[in-house]
Amino acid sequence: MSAIRVMERIVGDGQVLFGRDTPYSSSTPYPGLALTHKTAADRIDRLITWINGYARRIGRPNEAIPADLDGPIGISRFRRTLAWHIARRPGGLVALAVQYGHLRTVVSEGYASRSRQGIHTLIDIESARDIAERLSDLNEAIDNLEGISGPAARQLIDAAAREHNRFGGIITTHRQARALLDGPGLTVFENQRSFLLCNYDRDKALCHPGRAKAGIPSLDRCQPRCANIARTDQHATRMLQHAGRLRAQADSGATPTPLADRLRAEAEALTGRARHHLDNRITGGTVS
Ligand code: SF4
Repeated sequence: MSAIRVMERIVGDGQVLFGRDTPYSSSTPYPGLALTHKTAADRIDRLITWINGYARRIGRPNEAIPADLDGPIGISRFRRTLAWHIARRPGGLVALAVQYGHLRTVVSEGYASRSRQGIHTLIDIESARDIAERLSDLNEAIDNLEGISGPAARQLIDAAAREHNRFGGIITTHRQARALLDGPGLTVFENQRSFLLCNYDRDKALCHPGRAKAGIPSLDRCQPRCANIARTDQHATRMLQHAGRLRAQADSGATPTPLADRLRAEAEALTGRARHHLDNRITGGTVS
């Protein structure tokens, strides 16, 4: 998102992010239009050349981008990379709603009408892969007595078992991706900032102002009283670690008192949530 915001400020209001105009081109007969497929691919190529030259100049050749056996990294492969990153960002699907217009601009021209369908298909597959891998890992952890807490704990344990039995953590086709994403109770999102898993049921979601019927959660507006929340032992561990970091920062002597007080309060809240998890956790074996 930050990179997109920077681009928006560079190009100005109402302009496409990857246009043919300045500051990228000194002149163009087609001002205001997006880059062509070929020009975008050329620029990816030049970016790789620049990165590799820079890596050599600063004596870090091992950080150069190696030649690819499958040929140049064109727009179609670059889109897959974008899809992978968007699907795995915290709130990535939400960010997509904002960024999609810009992505469509990048892949316009040569892709024309295929661009819209293509990027959605890629995002579906990468999102479903992310969820499937998470649920299969979780299913294995539950088998090893990982504790789960929260109002959605039982749904989460059930979702992990169902996903693992049906997909085994592997999604290879768009049909499988849609089956998982449309499967009731299977859309489980990691909310790293709030240290929880969102077992998304839109009818129970508290993050939609006005109870709008969104198809994805607003992870950045997550509400601690939501019935879709579940936590694992790993979340509790991470909360305690983060609380420790906040206390260390508060006690460092370099932090102004009002800020130190806020950090300590946040650390207390995190510790309280972690304790609540440890006091209320259930394991796969204790589910009735
Ligand atoms: S409020 Fe509920 S539905 Fe929304 S992100 Fe948080 S847990 Fe998910």
